[in-house]
Amino acid sequence: MMSRAEKKKKREKMIEEQGLIYLDKVSKSYSTGAPALNGVTLHIKQGEFVFIVGDSGSGKSTLIKLLLRELTATQGAVYVMGQNLAKLRHGKIPKYRRNLGVVFQDFRLLNDRNVYDNVAFAQRIVEVRPREIRKNVPNILKTVGLAGKYKAKTKQLSGGEQQRVALARALINKPAILLADEPTGNLDPKNSWEIMQLLEEINEAGTTVVVVTHNREIVNAMHKRVIAMRKGVIISDEEEGEYTDED
Ligand code: ADP
Ligand code: MG
Repeated sequence: MMSRAEKKKKREKMIEEQGLIYLDKVSKSYSTGAPALNGVTLHIKQGEFVFIVGDSGSGKSTLIKLLLRELTATQGAVYVMGQNLAKLRHGKIPKYRRNLGVVFQDFRLLNDRNVYDNVAFAQRIVEVRPREIRKNVPNILKTVGLAGKYKAKTKQLSGGEQQRVALARALINKPAILLADEPTGNLDPKNSWEIMQLLEEINEAGTTVVVVTHNREIVNAMHKRVIAMRKGVIISDEEEGEYTDED
């Protein structure tokens, strides 16, 4: 048996050598159809900002779900923060997920609650002390540009404001990694830019950010690493890449 200290050392070595996120020849098949991911190898270093682009059905959301440990790989291995997710015991999954913040196209807020409660909720479930919560929530709401909107019910907010609430909720527990699956898919161009700019700021403050998007204009303007997928494989991976059509 490895001691706790030895395990930690092994994880740190894995992060240093392979990245904070490491997919080693990963395939994922659902019960029907062609594999959603087919032999994907990928390294994302700590502190990177990465776009994942590709047509609908190319496996982008499957990749995000593997990182969230909502799914497990059919073949190959997924390592996040040096940890092989296939070896993560069920009871450890909630603790693992505290390292991740996640936002989706459809916001997924509690629509009968106000902004404050939506964000505070993420802290209550990890048992942060009430006094801390009362300090943290206003701070994070200020970061996402929602100071003063605490009491609004989320269903009364615009799409852009709702996505800011979702972002605040994703960030309040200070995750190492932020995963965003088409975060601007329901937003107009102005709000899309503002959300992307927030993601960039979050990245500059040290969080590793992975963004799945179809927003060609933004990808081309931001000069970040771009990983393009098609039919379950990576077809290109470029530093300061562009959103190109392969067809
Ligand atoms: P993307 O996010 O790039 O649009 P997905 O990862 O959602 O792609 O889907 C990749 C492929 O896997 C698609 O062919 C899709 O139909 C299939 N797929 C996704 N989820 C499921 C599921 N739960 N059951 C069966 N097939 C699925
Ligand atoms: Mg998708």
